[in-house]
This record gives sequence, structure tokens and C-alpha cells, in this order.
Amino acid sequence: MSVDLPVAEIMKRDLLECVPTLSLHEASARMYEARCGSIIVVDKGQPIGIWTESDALSGTWKCAADLDRPVSDFMSTPVKSIPAHTTLGEAAKLFRQAGVRHFLVTDASGVHRGIISQTDVVRNQGVAFFMRARVVASLIQEAPNCVEQDMPFDEVLQLMQERNVDAVIVRAAAQYGIITKRDVVGALGQRNTKANAGELASFPLLTIHRDATLFQARDLFAENQIRHLGLMDDQLEPIGLLTFRDLFDTVEHEYVNGLLPELELQTEKLLQSRREVIRQVSLTDAILNALPINIYVKDEAGRLIIANEMTAQTIGRPLSDIVGRTDEELFPAELAQRFVIDDARVRSTNQTLVREEQLPDGRILLGHKRLINVDGAALLIGASMDVSDWKRADTLMVSSHHVLELIAGGSELSVVLEALCRRMETHLPGALCSILLLDADGRHLRHGAAPSLPLSYAREVDQIVIGPSAGSSGAAAFLGEQVIVEDIANSPLWVDLLDFAEHFNLRACWSTPFFSAARKVLGTFAIYYSTTKLPDYNDLKVINHATRMASVAVERWQQISELQRLATTDQLTGLGNRAHFIESAEIELRRAGRFNRDLVVLMIDIDFFKRINDRHGHATGDEALRVFSRVLGRETRAFDLLGRIGGEEFAVVLPETPIEAGLQIAERLREAVEQSSFIFHHGPSIRFTVSIGATPLQAGDNLDSLLARADDALYRAKHAGRNRVKRG
Ligand code: GH3
Ligand code: MG
Ligand code: MG
Repeated sequence: MSVDLPVAEIMKRDLLECVPTLSLHEASARMYEARCGSIIVVDKGQPIGIWTESDALSGTWKCAADLDRPVSDFMSTPVKSIPAHTTLGEAAKLFRQAGVRHFLVTDASGVHRGIISQTDVVRNQGVAFFMRARVVASLIQEAPNCVEQDMPFDEVLQLMQERNVDAVIVRAAAQYGIITKRDVVGALGQRNTKANAGELASFPLLTIHRDATLFQARDLFAENQIRHLGLMDDQLEPIGLLTFRDLFDTVEHEYVNGLLPELELQTEKLLQSRREVIRQVSLTDAILNALPINIYVKDEAGRLIIANEMTAQTIGRPLSDIVGRTDEELFPAELAQRFVIDDARVRSTNQTLVREEQLPDGRILLGHKRLINVDGAALLIGASMDVSDWKRADTLMVSSHHVLELIAGGSELSVVLEALCRRMETHLPGALCSILLLDADGRHLRHGAAPSLPLSYAREVDQIVIGPSAGSSGAAAFLGEQVIVEDIANSPLWVDLLDFAEHFNLRACWSTPFFSAARKVLGTFAIYYSTTKLPDYNDLKVINHATRMASVAVERWQQISELQRLATTDQLTGLGNRAHFIESAEIELRRAGRFNRDLVVLMIDIDFFKRINDRHGHATGDEALRVFSRVLGRETRAFDLLGRIGGEEFAVVLPETPIEAGLQIAERLREAVEQSSFIFHHGPSIRFTVSIGATPLQAGDNLDSLLARADDALYRAKHAGRNRVKRG
């Protein structure tokens, strides 16, 4: 049905007219005969009133005698006219403004051509249109029945009975409530007749503004499943109480009765489609809220108009509290400023912006913003995600790479471990890291690295013997398990080390052992804090990385050390081999030359060694070599260089030694060998002697000349009868 239909199309053309003096009885008879719903009262050619079937029913006449009175006594006045081209939509508005139910329809020359009623308009436009066109205030004639909250129950009851109303508004301090018939019955049912109005009432009273349309009122009724709506003026004072039924009171009864089922159907359909919309919206909401991503939309003024739960969580305020706000209201000034600049850039370039942003609490967001056009409005839609974990993992990887590079580059173990501690400290704010190594004896912890702790710490930890209560690290190494001590002061593990902890201001200590590929404890990675503390997920991840790095570093260092040992020592005697001896001797020689220091070289050969081999076997000869090595070790000093340079030939460099002292050492050694004996595998007791050539470092010497001179002296010692020392 078109809204633009002119009233001429639907008006009733059979106009019935009468003079004002015609009796009510006559007027009714004419209407009945003419099957006409109304009669226009015309005086001197001008319509002055109208009398309708509805008037007949509404009881404006009181008794049979009234039927003889002139129709003008009962007619509705005035009768207004509208032009025939008036549209139904305009007519509906005019009915509202004029407060009448009928219009005469006049043609272009002002002649009455027909009559149109409000019902006709409603019928042709549908009740929904009618309800849209009418404001609720037009329904209210009476002032609202309003009572104060302290009015006693019986007075409320009396008032409702007297005024014959089924509900009253209750005025409380800050809001309005309502008492309905149902509340009264409820109170009676509970014998609650001592209550006052405030206690009986339901709060708050649902309200609607006076200028709202019937249609809006109808929606409110339907959505809230209520029977009453408070009608409020601009000052939010109640001016009436509206019931669902009131909405239709101005439409003719018979019509409404016919339409009501249809309206209900329509309402149901409306609600259904609204439910569908709500379902869609809540599905969209559910999806948005389930995503672990901040999603938001800002309007042209920079106000948040849509945001999901994650966004609210990230900001740290309830969703209802952030929508409608600007960045300035939601974020610290500096951050908000950056967001505003970014937004302006997106708006001016119309390009997508991707940016990493750090929140004040340290979290890092990776954000993505762009413009979208919705109904002509340029909205800014954004999505951002907390990438702190990825970032952390990334920086942890960078740290690991750095440490791995040091390991691969052959850096000293202490350098690698210190770098590892320093790196891990950057991932653990406030932490002091320490790496302790388990000694070869498997009992002692040795200082590995602790770059942020005082030097004295290294000395003290070097003495810790591992055990179940030897501090966090002592226990971790002993148990082979991570040991977390939140509060050192109250930990049984630390009772013997409280002074140590106090001295270095250590309050919490988490220590994690790290292992070789063969699952042997290599050491522990310890983290200290000056406050009590438990690790979180991030801390544990860092620790995991650190211990893996420490394992690699220490194990590799051990392997390299072993390789070096194998490459430089003689397997049989454990002394330096020829190559290693030569290398070390060159260094000593250069040092002595540079600082003009004394130095003596001894060349030693076992006498008649062939004989031992021949008489007692090669294994016994080997044992003789080991016995000699031990004697040699005993008779020399820690800084002397010892080497096995041939089968049963040995060389010794005695740094810082004048030739006299060197000869004495040689003589002592010779004597010690002569006096030692050994038994191998239950064989006979074996003794042997050595001959020694000794020579001092002289000007112009190199290692070759020095060794040649010592060799020469040795040769002379052999020739002179063996078991003696000769100077060269
Ligand atoms: P001299 O007093 O003149 O030095 O007599 P010698 O028997 O020691 O003579 P020489 O130096 O010629 O002999 C060295 C012997 O040492 C030769 C070799 O068989 C033996 N020999 C070399 N290396 C080893 C070893 O590793 N183990 C054993 N058991 N014997 C070795
Ligand atoms: Mg020899
Ligand atoms: Mg020999």
C-alpha cells in the first residue's frame, strides 16, 4: 500500500448532509438507510459538525428523550477539510495534529467531494504506519497516578480503587517505580499489608519519552514483556502511565479488534526477525570475543564504536567502559599521541598501517589499521595482537645464537658462560645469574661465571660441597633436579649458608642442573633475586634455554680439553709429548731470553733400558717408564717443563734456575731413580739408573743448540760409565 496514495482514492463519496436542527433520531434513520457511517451537519452551506456511528455508540446521548433533540447538540465540531490530493501519510499527520477523526475532502474548487476517517487511513496504510505517525503523548489525557514511596499499603490500595486504575507510579529518591494490580495481589498473598509503596513497587519504572511514537512504545512493550510504561516529559517527570492496550484506543474499536490479531502476528514476525538479527549479532559478537586478537572500530572523531572483549582486556577496563571513548581517554598520553598520529596517517594516505607498539606494562602489540567506508562514514578498523611471547622467544633465540657463536668460535669457557649469564639477565629483569660447574670429583661446585655478582662470590661458591641441603645449587647438583627457593631466609636448604646469602643480599634462588649427553650433571644455572620470588612461565622458558646453552658450552669445552690433552700428552707416562714439550720449551726460552733469566735444560736417558725389556718383557719396560715419570714429577717443581721426547729419553726445562741449582736438581733426580725400585706383576724387584746431561741457557742459544749441548753432555755421561750427571 503506497503511502503516497491521495485521500481522494479512498474517501467515501456518498456524503450525507443534514441541517443542525434535524433530530438525532432522524439523522440516525437517514444514516441507516443510506448505509452511511456519518452525517455532516451543514448550516448555511458550511459544514459545522459531524455525527458518526461511533458517536452513537459512545453514549454522548443519555436517554430516549435525547433522540428528539437536534443533532447539533451531539455532533463533533469543528469539521475540518483537507484537499483531495492530500496523501494518506499527510492525512495521518493532520489527524494527529487536528485531534479529529474525520476530514471532509474538498476538490480544487473547494467543493466537498467526500469524507475520510482516521480508520480509513489506518486501514489503508496499515496499523504500523499509524503507530509510527502518532506520538505516545497524544494518548494521555490524565495526569499520572503518582504516589510517594512512604505511602502505606492501604492508602495505595484505596487510591487505586477510587481512581479505578490498575497501576500507580511510585516516586522514590532517585528513580521511579511502579505498583500494579499484580503487586497488590502479591502483597495480599503474603499478608504484607504493613508495607509501604516503596517496598511494594518494582524498580525501575520503564519509561518512554512523550515524543516517542506508538510504534516505539509497542517495541518496548514487546521487548521487555511488560504491561506499563511511564511516559516522561523533557524534565524526566512522569506525565502518564501507558498500557499496551492504550496504544490502540484511538483507533476505532471494531477496526482494532480486527487488526489486533494481525498486529500480534506482525509483532511476532518483527520479534522473530529481531531475534534473528540479535542471533546474528550475538554470533558475530561471540566470534569477535572468542578471538585472541584486539579488534576495534573508531569513528571519524576517533571514538571507539566497536571493540571486542580482548581489546577491553588489553586496555584493562570493562568493554562497556571503553566503547565511546577516544585514545586519549584510554591510554597514557604518550601512547595515545602515537595512536592519534597513526590514525591520521591512515586517514590521509588511505593505506594500511602495520606497527609494533609497546604498552606501558611492557607487552608488545603488533597492530594493523585501515580505513573502511560504511554508509559514507570513513571508519578506522584495527586489529592488534599481543606478540610479547613471540618477541621474547625471538630475543631469546638471538641470545642463544650469540652464545652459540662464541662456543663455535672457540672462546674460553669462562667467556662463554659470562656472556650466557649476561644475556639471560636481560631476559630476567632484576635477576643475577651464576653458573657453577661440578668438579671432576663429582662433589664440589666450582665457580663458572657470575658477571653481576662481586668477585668474592666466586671464591665462596668454589668451596661448596654438594648435598641435599647445600643451598639451591648444591641441592640441584646433588639431586639432579631443579630446585626453586622462593625465600632463602625460610628455606631448610639454606640454613648453613644464611651468612653467605645475607652477605650478597640474596633472597630467592632458583637453581637448575644441566647435563651432559650421557645425563651426567655438568653444573647448575642459578638465578638470584634480592626479593622473594617464584618463577613464571617466561622465567622457566629462559632457564630452559640457558641450561641447554650451558650444557653445550661445558660439554664442548670438556671435549676440546680432552682432545688437547690427548694431543699434547704422552699416553704412557702422562707427561708432555715431544711436540708439546718443544712448543712449551720455545715459549720458556723466549721468556728467559727476554727477561735475561737463567734456565737449565736436562736431557735424561735410562741406562741399559734394552736389558729391562729383554729380561722382563716390554710391559715391565713400560712400567719402568711410568716409575721414572713419577720420580721425575716428584723431584721437579710445578712450573718445570717435563717431556718424553723419545722412547726412554726425557727432557726437562728448569726456568728461573742457575746451572748450579740445575745440576743439584739433576743429581737429586739421578739419586732418587737409583734408589727406587719396583715390582711388576709379581716379578722380581727391578732397579734402574739414568744418565743426565745438563746445560744452561747461553747467549745466542736457540732450543736446538741448547738441546744439542745437553744431548752431548748426556752422551758424555754414558761414556763416563752411566748413572751420572754431566754439564754441557
Ligand atoms: P743405554 O744405556 O746406552 O742407553 O742403553 P739402552 O739399552 O738404554 O740403549 P738404547 O737407548 O739403544 O735402547 C733403547 C731401547 O728402549 C730400545 C727400545 O727397544 C726400547 N724402548 C723404546 N721405547 C720403548 C717403550 O715405549 N717401551 C719399552 N718397553 N721399551 C722401549
Ligand atoms: Mg736411548
Ligand atoms: Mg738408554
